[in-house]
Amino acid sequence: MPSLNLQILIAACLGVAIGWLTGTLPADAPVREGVLYASTLLGSIFIGLLKMVLIPLIFTSIVVGVANLQAHHQVHRVWGGALVYFTLTTSVAMLVALIAANLFKPGAGLSLDLFAEAMNDFEARQLTLPEFFLHFFANLFQNPFAALANGSILAVVVFAMFIGIALVAGGDRYRNILVVLQEFLELMMRIIGWIMRLAPLGILALLIKLVAEQDVALLSAVGGFIVLVFATTLFHGIVVLPGILFLTTGRSPLWFFRGTREALITAFATSSSAATLPISLRCAEDNLKVRPGIAGFVLPLGATMNMDGTALYEAAAALFVANLMGIELSLAQQAVVFFTAMIASTGAPGIPSAGMVTMVMVLQAVGLPAEAVAILLPIDRLLDTVRTAVNVEGDIIGSVVVQRFADRG
Ligand code: ASP
Repeated sequence: MPSLNLQILIAACLGVAIGWLTGTLPADAPVREGVLYASTLLGSIFIGLLKMVLIPLIFTSIVVGVANLQAHHQVHRVWGGALVYFTLTTSVAMLVALIAANLFKPGAGLSLDLFAEAMNDFEARQLTLPEFFLHFFANLFQNPFAALANGSILAVVVFAMFIGIALVAGGDRYRNILVVLQEFLELMMRIIGWIMRLAPLGILALLIKLVAEQDVALLSAVGGFIVLVFATTLFHGIVVLPGILFLTTGRSPLWFFRGTREALITAFATSSSAATLPISLRCAEDNLKVRPGIAGFVLPLGATMNMDGTALYEAAAALFVANLMGIELSLAQQAVVFFTAMIASTGAPGIPSAGMVTMVMVLQAVGLPAEAVAILLPIDRLLDTVRTAVNVEGDIIGSVVVQRFADRG
């Protein structure tokens, strides 16, 4: 039996091939319907299993992580290090996008009429910057039971941090609670190990469905933009992030990619940083030897706040829409795109197409119509693959970098 790592790689290649073949069959062919049904079923079971462990995992890993860090007086360094790393890498990602979009001008010369119908039928939910902040901060502190039940990750993270710090502040009095949570965390990791065995099948199913359902005619209409987004996202994921890893920790990109292949392929197939989190945690701890205290803190936080791929995409997409409309964005307007895309990517939850919702804010900030999101929606599932993989990559590299930074202090 090949290793799980290899099985996942084979499953991903097979998924793309079978999906492509399925896509060539006529829409009402029974084989196509059967394959699509089976892959939808299997794919949702896999994602369902990952989500099943997600919230208990986030809660326990943050409590235990923060408590351990606090006990070793490392909380400030880890927290500060993570924020600096998140901000810096996201900024570089957006700079890459803005430079590439200015050089290649995607969308220039395309006729807007092509998309007129989609834009007319689309009603965008308006989201202004002040509204966004209100929503963001109001949701940060919630009834923990509601947050746990609704899967509001950021609110769970905040509550878990309070508990973790309080546990240490209370000293020996709360030892038992900490031990119980530590054991519960181990239990979750054991279940994740079981779910991982299903990963090859889940990834196969998700990729078959993804590839079979792409609309080739539509993709070729905006092909230039898709290539630009893929190329810049890959540049960030293959050159920039591994470069930062190497410069700050001396670790080689090969070592990193070998240890995280399972997480990156899962992110690609699920388009969800949150659903991938259980696997990212395992890869970081088992293969890259990031201490649970640090991985358990940086990864959940990163999965909701640090999205290099999303920020890069939002910046590139804003310029694409402007080009389509025949509007030239000034340097000042591009600076506005930079800052709003930074905030928008931080606020986007790690679920499929989340970036599309917060994208509205970026468009509005520079006076572009929110309805233009309709142009991007049909191609979003495809673009969300690489963007989520790079989001997850950025988080895992962050945990390695932050560990090095914390240990130096
Ligand atoms: N799907 C992305 C993620 O989960 C978020 C986005 O839509 O950009 O990381």
